[in-house]
Amino acid sequence: MKGNYTSRDLVRLASSRCAGCGDCCRNMGDSIRLDPYDAYMLSYGLHKPFQKLIENEVGFSVTNEQGLVLPHLMMKQVLRKADEKGQQAVTECTFLAADGKCRIHGVRPGVCRLFPLGRQYEESGITYFDLEACDMPGKSKVRIDKWLGIPDLEEYHAFKENWHTFCKRLSDRLSEEDQDTRKKINTLMLHMFFMTGYDGDFYECFEVRRKQAEQILL
Ligand code: SF4
Repeated sequence: MKGNYTSRDLVRLASSRCAGCGDCCRNMGDSIRLDPYDAYMLSYGLHKPFQKLIENEVGFSVTNEQGLVLPHLMMKQVLRKADEKGQQAVTECTFLAADGKCRIHGVRPGVCRLFPLGRQYEESGITYFDLEACDMPGKSKVRIDKWLGIPDLEEYHAFKENWHTFCKRLSDRLSEEDQDTRKKINTLMLHMFFMTGYDGDFYECFEVRRKQAEQILL
């Protein structure tokens, strides 16, 4: 890993030779986790309430040892050509098309927008680093904010920091509770931030809910 970049830094990320291999969308397990902004964007872009997305495209998993549950994109098992001789079974994102392209590129989740970058939360704010997880040759430099393609990045950063802090505090609370209470807290949190749609300005709605959730759950 390298870098301690701000969103205005130029980093060698964009490969002119990227042929849409789709490798970064395969065998990802439950690692493509969703935050409330992702849930809002997916519902908006696919014209589906989040409750519908959990029928096939989104699952839930425990994300840490304290028992915090969050949604993630589902993988499906498919057969892909391995070499001249045959096929192999792989798991891939349900939104990956047969030609290796993302079917929801415009509303893809934050984890996908970031790749191959990682994000870290520091006192001075959010910074980025290169995971060095894509070895496609011929990369050129691109500014990180352009790479992410998220409008109102300042507001988005404020949201990410607040969500990150909320999840940390909720995890601390969960660590003090028994199994049944953890389940109830997770269910209520998922209902407040994911299962209930966002009308109007996302960031404003999120802030209202975050303050309510802090009173009820923390
Ligand atoms: S949403 Fe798109 S970019 Fe993200 S893993 Fe699925 S296919 Fe890949």
